[in-house]
Amino acid sequence: MGEKNLTRRTFVVGGAALVAGIGVGAVAKPCAAQANVLRPPGAVSEADFMALCIKCSRCISACPTDVLKPLGMEDGVLRARTPTLSYLAGSCTFCDECRIVCPTGAVGAVDPFAPETGRIGGAILHEDRCLAFLQSGSCGVCVDACPYEALSFDEGRKPVVDQKKCNGCGECVRVCPANVLTSFSGGEVRGIEVVTDKTLSEMGGQR
Ligand code: SF4
Ligand code: SF4
Ligand code: SF4
Repeated sequence: MGEKNLTRRTFVVGGAALVAGIGVGAVAKPCAAQANVLRPPGAVSEADFMALCIKCSRCISACPTDVLKPLGMEDGVLRARTPTLSYLAGSCTFCDECRIVCPTGAVGAVDPFAPETGRIGGAILHEDRCLAFLQSGSCGVCVDACPYEALSFDEGRKPVVDQKKCNGCGECVRVCPANVLTSFSGGEVRGIEVVTDKTLSEMGGQR
């Protein structure tokens, strides 16, 4: 399946053993396969991240855009309080602060113009939410906002993501006005979303 088809697809979003002396890193690895969490740019593999991150929150405190948030219990107790990203109020500028303050090396350096060096994830469009899909030509805010020229219009003036350029910064999510339509439910539903490479792969993407 080509990237163009992928980006158009509607994606519905969609104790005691510890005390017995088993190290946190050793416990984390068996559940690493199920992990599907957005991590700071340049983060090591999820298994290594769980072994290295000491939940000190330094990265979250240092992030100037507040895009980093502590994970709740939704991905299990071991992942609670580890850093993840929420683009509702901010996006990642690849400022490198999270890497600088991390005391364990869980976060590495990234060139945002070379996403293969450690991108956060990739953006996908939701055809059932994006205003440009619901009414052709009605919106293109994300295309104009993308700092990395990863978004463009197709022949029908609907946005398309170039996964080779997208680094998961989330600026498109931050500026997307589609949440107005769902403001009654909290305004957190946008026409575009950044998902992990694991999710993209499960959707049939190239990563
Ligand atoms: S690179 Fe900067 S903006 Fe991005 S998550 Fe890290 S501290 Fe926040
Ligand atoms: S900003 Fe949102 S609604 Fe507008 S084209 Fe982009 S994804 Fe669609
Ligand atoms: S996450 Fe959105 S704004 Fe950022 S590079 Fe990807 S398409 Fe562009």
